[in-house]
Amino acid sequence: MDDWNHSCQACGSPDVPLTKLSLGKDFFGRPYDRLSPSSDQNPRWYCTSCSFHKQLQRDFRDILAEFDKLRASFISELSKADEFRRASLRLYEIRTILDAPKQTSQFLSNRDVTVLMERLNTLTMPV
Ligand SMILES: [Zn+2]
Repeated sequence: MDDWNHSCQACGSPDVPLTKLSLGKDFFGRPYDRLSPSSDQNPRWYCTSCSFHKQLQRDFRDILAEFDKLRASFISELSKADEFRRASLRLYEIRTILDAPKQTSQFLSNRDVTVLMERLNTLTMPV
């Protein structure tokens, strides 16, 4: 029933130490709703590098989702000044990591992060 061959489920590397990744809390400290189809329902197995990049992608997605809410004038974590600042710093950090040589992410492109950073900068930081 399960034909997964014990390689990394992102980059496909065989014979590497794998980490079972279950995403407990999101970037804003909220537990994932495991019943909702948009959240990660199935824990996956990733090699060390991919599980690291998966966390970056998770943070990026969480920030993007809150950004979209903010833009649509819904209640958003980013309407809190602290969270807004934290999210901006995190994006900066993610981009710095993706800029480094040999940091090829299966999940996230440097360009996506840059675009979100630019879009965030067009907003006035809440006070
Ligand atoms: Zn991998």
